[in-house]
Amino acid sequence: MVWALALASLALVSPARQAGVMRGGAAAPSFVNAAVARAPRDGAPRVHMASCAKLTEAAALLDSVDVFIFDCDGVIWKGDSLIEGVPAVLDMLRKAGKRIFFVTNNSTKSRKGYVGKFTSLGLSVEPEEIFSSSFAAAAYMEQIKFKASGKKVYVVGEVGIQEELDLIGVPHIGGPADAGAQIELKNGGMVHHDPDVGAVIVGFDRYINYYKIQYAQLCINENPGCLFVATNLDAVTHLTDAQEWAGNGAMVGAIKGCTKREPVLVGKPSPLMIDYIVDKYKIASRNRICMVGDRLDTDILFGRDNGLRTCLTLSGVTTEAKLLSQENQIAPDYYVGSIAEFAGAGVKA
Ligand SMILES: [Mg+2]
Repeated sequence: MVWALALASLALVSPARQAGVMRGGAAAPSFVNAAVARAPRDGAPRVHMASCAKLTEAAALLDSVDVFIFDCDGVIWKGDSLIEGVPAVLDMLRKAGKRIFFVTNNSTKSRKGYVGKFTSLGLSVEPEEIFSSSFAAAAYMEQIKFKASGKKVYVVGEVGIQEELDLIGVPHIGGPADAGAQIELKNGGMVHHDPDVGAVIVGFDRYINYYKIQYAQLCINENPGCLFVATNLDAVTHLTDAQEWAGNGAMVGAIKGCTKREPVLVGKPSPLMIDYIVDKYKIASRNRICMVGDRLDTDILFGRDNGLRTCLTLSGVTTEAKLLSQENQIAPDYYVGSIAEFAGAGVKA
C-alpha cells in the first residue's frame, strides 16, 4: 500500500512519470495521500541560509529525534574507507534507543550485499535496516505487480538489482552478462532485442557500453508500454576516496538521450523509500525523524520534501563554502563536519 502512496507522490512530481507509472498498470494514485506524504514539516526551513546552523548542541537535536536515517556514501564511509568515529556514534545512538536506518542510492549491491559491506567495515547491521535503491527498484516492481504481466526486465546495472529482482521472482536479462557485448556495424547489422522486455531498470553500471544503451533504447522505444525505471540520478559518486566519479545520472542520461523519456525515479529524492519506512515501522511523527546525508540535492532535498529534520555532513561531496554560497537554495536544519560530532552529546536514554 505504501508504494501506492509513494507512486501518487511521483505523479505529483512529474506528469511524465505518472504516465510511466500508469503504463505499468499501477492503481490510480490518491492525491490526498500524496499531498500528506509530501507536506513539509511545520517550521522546517526552506531555502534561507540564515536558518542553516552548524550543530553546536548535538544533545538538543538527538533528544528531539527518535529515528535517524543515514545516507551511506560520504556519511558512513567513503569508497571502502570507514569515516572516523562512526562506529562509536552508531553504538551511542543504539544504546540511547534510537532507531537507525541506512538509505543509499547506490544500486550495485542488494540489501544482502550491503550487510557484507557493513560487516567488512566492522559494523553490525540488520538487512531490514538497509534501504538501497536496488531494493527500491524491486519494491516498485512488486507494487505495480509487474510479475503478473509475464514480462521480463532488462537491467543496465550491476548484481544488486538482479539479486533483488530474484527475491521477488521477476525474470531479468542484461546486467553483468552484457558487460563485454559488442556491436557489429556492417550492412544489415542490428541488435536483436527481446520483445518480452516490459521494463528497463537503469542503475549504476561500471561496465556500461554501447550495446547496453542500444538494447535499452530498442526495448523502450519499440516494446509497447515498456517502463523506464531509474534507481537514482546522482551526478557523481564515491567509488574511491580519492576523487568523485560519474554517477548513475550518466547512465540514465544516456538512455534518456536516445528515448526522450523521463524515468520513474525510485531512489532519493523520490519519496518512495521514506514512505515505505514510515509505513512499515509505523513511525508516528516525521518531525522526529532526521535525515543525515552529504548531498544537498538528494539527501537534504529528500528529507526536506518529506517533512523530516535534516542534517548535512561535510564528510562527503558538499563543502561548507558550497553549502553557504548564495547559489545554494537547499538548506538543511543543521550541518556537521562528520557524524562523529554526534558523539558525546549526552543523549538521554
Ligand atoms: Mg552520499
